Amino acid sequence: MKFGGTSVADADRIKRAARRIVAQREAGNRVVAVLSARGKTTDELIAMADEVSPHPDRREMDMLLSTGERISCALCAMAINDLGHRAISLTGSQAGIVTDTSHTKARILDVRADRIREALDQDRIVLVAGFQGVSTSRDVTTLGRGGSDTTAVALAAAMNAKVCEIYTDVRGVYSADPRIVPDARKLPMVSFEEMLEMAASGAKVLQLRSVEYARNHGVRIHCRASFEDGPGTFVVGEEDTMEHPLITAVTHATDEARITLLGVPDRPGAAAAIFGALADAGCNVDTIIQNEPLEEGRDAEVSFTIPREDLLAAEGALQSVTGDLGIARVDTDREIGKVSIVGAGMRSHPGVAAKVFRVLAGEGINIEMISTSPIKISCVIRSEVVPQAVRALHDAFELGAGTIAHDGGPR
Ligand code: ADP
Ligand code: ASP
Ligand code: MG
Repeated sequence: MKFGGTSVADADRIKRAARRIVAQREAGNRVVAVLSARGKTTDELIAMADEVSPHPDRREMDMLLSTGERISCALCAMAINDLGHRAISLTGSQAGIVTDTSHTKARILDVRADRIREALDQDRIVLVAGFQGVSTSRDVTTLGRGGSDTTAVALAAAMNAKVCEIYTDVRGVYSADPRIVPDARKLPMVSFEEMLEMAASGAKVLQLRSVEYARNHGVRIHCRASFEDGPGTFVVGEEDTMEHPLITAVTHATDEARITLLGVPDRPGAAAAIFGALADAGCNVDTIIQNEPLEEGRDAEVSFTIPREDLLAAEGALQSVTGDLGIARVDTDREIGKVSIVGAGMRSHPGVAAKVFRVLAGEGINIEMISTSPIKISCVIRSEVVPQAVRALHDAFELGAGTIAHDGGPR
């Protein structure tokens, strides 16, 4: 069972989570619960670091950020003990989550869960601080924003759990962010393939890595409400999905940035040098556009998007490359957003992209970049028009509650 930040934000909610955990134990299950930091704690810790340092050291950043989830776990353990059960809280390191050394974005390499197993054998409820681990060089690491989902899935895989329940502040995975589209529909199930595309294109309800991990290790995810009972969304293999709609969801991101390199020499190795440097700096590059110069020997232009939080690192990484390659200019744009539609049905239906472009044109929204996969179409647009774009596409593809469009091709 994993509880997100909003679901443990205050004393009452911690007690409510404690009661739900205890109810599962009393139903005869052995329970490992992963908790996130309370409410906006992680954001506040990041702001505290920014107050003392313009470029906080990433190792120290992890020491700082990992404290948020420890607080939640210790408090919840106290609440569970008061309900007459025996709980023990563990840090990620104590729980045996071993990661690589890439601070603030570490990847889980191994889960050595013997301490959890011992505690379960002693009839304890185990609470694990999410979003963190210990690196192969024995430093505390964190797993990137939303990383508690991945802690939960990794533990579920290591413990061979029946299910990994992700308790959050919405009832499951919806056809669009229900905060932007009030009539968005809750999806009873969604395939790993679609959920991966959704998470990658901004639906932060499940962290991308948690979905990858679940698919690779065969973990059953049930994403559901922490504030009420009732089923949420199951993430399942494509062969097990009951519905095959053309389009499953509209997703969005409003926190992207774009970098444009002007005067890039038109020769083999230029792109490799640019994106190699960005990769070494841990920047997650998304949509890339390079236009070939019309005349031979003239310079090319390269644009790409990255998460806004990676912008500083990217600018740093590009500094030496721009000198080496003689790149004329680097422009950055911070107000970049993205809207995407995801659906396994579009694989076999032409015309979906044309309809997306038509809908956005009808709204007077300019598309600045486009990228596609077999089951996703993404458009880079101004971040301020993202909510309008999401609502228009959700309407046009009739994804709202009660109006789900079945595999009948685009209208
Ligand atoms: P938690 O703190 O529980 O981890 P998050 O804030 O990380 O919760 O994720 C839940 C939020 O994800 C919801 O409050 C919702 O606004 C947002 N969200 C974005 N897209 C979707 C979607 N397609 N379905 C459900 N929630 C979504
Ligand atoms: N507390 C971390 C964050 O805010 C991890 C998580 O909530 O999953 O990103
Ligand atoms: Mg989350």
